[in-house]
Amino acid sequence: MNYKDYIRVIEDFPQPGIRFKDITTLLGDGKAYRAAIEDMKAALKDKQIDLIAGPEARGFVIGAPLALALGVGFVPIRKSGKLPGETVEASYDLEYGKDKLAIHKDAIAPGQRVLIADDLLATGGTIATTMDLIRQVGGEVVGASFLIELSYLNGREKLGGTDVFSLIQY
Ligand code: IMP
Repeated sequence: MNYKDYIRVIEDFPQPGIRFKDITTLLGDGKAYRAAIEDMKAALKDKQIDLIAGPEARGFVIGAPLALALGVGFVPIRKSGKLPGETVEASYDLEYGKDKLAIHKDAIAPGQRVLIADDLLATGGTIATTMDLIRQVGGEVVGASFLIELSYLNGREKLGGTDVFSLIQY
């Protein structure tokens, strides 16, 4: 499937100069959405994974169906102040701003093998912070999987040699 046909590029969102890759058009097509999750799953066939972790909000839209397809649990990484239990938090820079992410302290058992899933790898800030949180609560990061990778932003370099898979590259 040519997935790029299902991604809409919106100029100057959320601010001038950014060419926003809008995945809502892919999500809105049942066949394309399912095929994308199946292809992401197929790329992970040789990996032993105990859990998938995905950052709010679009990481849920990719990570949860991928977890379901693999038959493993899902760990939500949320914006600060949203998780009800005891959390660990960390700040990070976005392609266009700053934010703070949190994980439940007891979300991952020591040594569990965690794959990170998100819609898009840009500068890698979100995922570097997500990796940091997973490790802080005792998990082992075994890779990161994305629907889209903006290769020209070199986000991979921020992930310290972590195994990275992306379905679509720009
Ligand atoms: P990073 O931290 O710079 O890698 O940014 C990744 C996060 O920013 C992802 O969780 C995306 O949801 C969001 N993001 C950045 N650029 C885009 C874009 O062009 N389209 C959709 N989401 C984007």
